[in-house]
Amino acid sequence: MGKALIIGAGGVAGVAVHKCCQNSEIFEEICIASRTLSKCEDLKNKLCGKTKTKIKTACVDADNVEALINLINDFKPDIVMNLALPYQDLTIMDACLATKTNYMDTANYEPPDNAKFEYKWQWAYRDKFKNAGITALLGSGFDPGVTGVFSAYAIKHHFDEIEYIDILDANAGDHGYPFATNFNPEINIREVSANGSYIENGKWIETKPLEIKRQYNFPEIGNMDMYLLHHEELESLALNIKGIKRIRFFMTFSERYITHLKVLENVGMTSIKPIEYEGMKIVPLQFLKAVLPDPASLGPRTKGKTNIGCIFTGKKDGKTKHYYLYNVCDHQECYKEVGSQAISYTTGVPAMIGASLVMSGKWNKPGVYNIEEFDPDPFMELLNKFGLKWNESFNPELVD
Ligand code: NDP
Repeated sequence: MGKALIIGAGGVAGVAVHKCCQNSEIFEEICIASRTLSKCEDLKNKLCGKTKTKIKTACVDADNVEALINLINDFKPDIVMNLALPYQDLTIMDACLATKTNYMDTANYEPPDNAKFEYKWQWAYRDKFKNAGITALLGSGFDPGVTGVFSAYAIKHHFDEIEYIDILDANAGDHGYPFATNFNPEINIREVSANGSYIENGKWIETKPLEIKRQYNFPEIGNMDMYLLHHEELESLALNIKGIKRIRFFMTFSERYITHLKVLENVGMTSIKPIEYEGMKIVPLQFLKAVLPDPASLGPRTKGKTNIGCIFTGKKDGKTKHYYLYNVCDHQECYKEVGSQAISYTTGVPAMIGASLVMSGKWNKPGVYNIEEFDPDPFMELLNKFGLKWNESFNPELVD
């Protein structure tokens, strides 16, 4: 069917590349392009000879729009899959505009010097993408991503209106390290150490970091502590799912993770303000990232399961109804299949699915859209086909 340019060669990109290669009818050719060429080559070497998808590689600095434009003009992809970091969203969108190429990502833009992610920067491209006749699909990972597809599916098939959504992200995996993050440490720690927030009656309510704690008995995982976080899909879902009164996001963390994070914060290691060190300027959080385990290396060590999903409460035919949609993913099963742990897997699979729907024309809609603005049905079908089976329950435990 066509060609995809994949930017980034880290944990998430590694899974997406495997999954594109399992879907060669759509992904006839891919180019893996990142800052470190050897990582692209490693990925290519793992898959060459095992797939009908042709694989190229390239070295690119995705902060440089001209370099991206040259690469796109050279490879002529149908879509650019941004699986690098959120800092590159806008430069890649600029290059897509200049070359009239479709765009997708898994995380919304945040400026490197201010740990505050918001959609306003990317939504500002709506008219430009529409006029250029190209589609930008925002947030096609798991959360954001599948959580938006679950919400669109719930309102389409089960509710007249949804009043409450609780997004629950549980990871019961154990990698055996005292402290490590399951995706890019810099992005992960910025997210967890920021103030929490949720939306109630159209207003954002802010909390201190990790101030709100609950316990939940997750199917197939059991009881875990979870904490309310600010998360990007809250912003778009509150606008796109009609009738919402309250939407919250909770993520599980172990005592050990929280204790380490607090100590690192207290000694200044999570700060993003540059400091002077022996004549150089360094950002403490970037230095910390350099000494922590690479998330892509956690695959062989991580055992246990994740459970990520949404609990919806709303009205159907005048009656109150509850509905829980979730996926359970086993770290070791993911490792056996694609050589990575479940966090990269649950992000890389939806990234491939979102790109395939834009490429096949099913989700081709000029403009800039969040994932819940597309028809969820083909995505839900492909989740089951490509390794992320979903489960539903009509009588879930609720979060107070
Ligand atoms: P990694 O750190 O493992 O990989 C990032 C990759 O991007 C690396 O290959 C890195 O290159 C490359 N990169 C960074 N800067 C540039 C640049 N300027 N030019 C070219 N390449 C660059 O991160 P993950 O794979 O864990 O995460 C990838 C993305 O997925 C992140 O945006 C993250 O926020 C998002 N994510 C989304 C989730 C969701 O559910 N929606 C969940 C988890 C992650 P190098 O190797 O040289 O450093």
